[in-house]
Amino acid sequence: MRKLIIIGSGPAGLTAAIYSARANLNPLLYEGEQPGGQLMITTEVENYPGFDNGVTGPVLMDTMRKQAERFGTEMRQENVIEVDLSSRPFKIKATNSEEEAEALIISTGATSRWLNLESEEKLRGYGVSACATCDGAFFRDKKLLIVGGGDSAIEEAIFLTKFASQVTIVHRRDELRASKIMGERARKNPKIDFLWDSVIVDILDPAKKRVVGARVKNVKTGKIEEVPCDGVFVAIGHDPNTQIFKGQLEMNPAGYLITRNGTHTSVEGVFAAGDVQDHVYRQAITAAASGCMAAIDAERWLEAQEE
Ligand code: NAP
Repeated sequence: MRKLIIIGSGPAGLTAAIYSARANLNPLLYEGEQPGGQLMITTEVENYPGFDNGVTGPVLMDTMRKQAERFGTEMRQENVIEVDLSSRPFKIKATNSEEEAEALIISTGATSRWLNLESEEKLRGYGVSACATCDGAFFRDKKLLIVGGGDSAIEEAIFLTKFASQVTIVHRRDELRASKIMGERARKNPKIDFLWDSVIVDILDPAKKRVVGARVKNVKTGKIEEVPCDGVFVAIGHDPNTQIFKGQLEMNPAGYLITRNGTHTSVEGVFAAGDVQDHVYRQAITAAASGCMAAIDAERWLEAQEE
């Protein structure tokens, strides 16, 4: 039986691993099949303290991973598919292994949201994407639409102007959710324009297996127009990765894990850190900080069990 298992390998999970490995808890970390979390699909990170010239998401995650390994964290590149938290030790079933643990830290993060249009699903990988960093380079000198009004949409729009000839931000309101500084940067970028009060109702053309345009509806007037484009990027936020914990841990209506008294969840011995329990701040630095808190909480809880 393991003392501590950590699920998820974004900044929260890796920081929890660094702290708990240094506390001699010999953590096992299930990284998932695509390790590193959302920062793996982020370009420049300018606000993570310690990097005066910024750092790319993948480099930051690789550095954290090496740091966690250095203190003896065991990593497994597997997805956890089932957990049983009804009694201790907790049972964890992954793609190729099963384990038991006295304590558990959940840092499974959140996943990008889609518009849920049939045409969007059919054209994913054929011009529809949720990752500008991954797919932007395919759209050199092309015209793109990007959906969303948050920091992600703006950041991705700016990134896409490195390749695209024009990037139109399609937002369902007439005001951005993004921070002022990001909004200003987008407004000043000559390659970026906006379609306000607008939603995409259909992406064209699944029959051609490529994107040739989108049907965009103005939510105030109800008018639908066809906007020609070569690609559609969706950047409308995220959903927490908590499906395997449904019915076992307390969650809010959106599915985020509820933590109290630091990082304690509703089950004693189970702790949560990072975006899986934070729908407010959602930053790499806050995720890392809560990973540190979870490791300290788990260590203290394990110690108290031995008394
Ligand atoms: P977000 O802040 O939740 O914004 C999501 C955007 O998508 C909102 O503008 C929302 O519209 C829109 N939206 C949601 N569902 C939609 C739907 N079904 N159809 C059309 N539009 C929809 O998410 P985010 O931009 O991913 O950012 C998440 C967090 O990460 C934020 O705290 C953000 O500040 C942070 N972040 C920071 C940086 C940075 O500082 N460099 C970069 C990326 C993200 P409404 O505005 O109408 O709700």
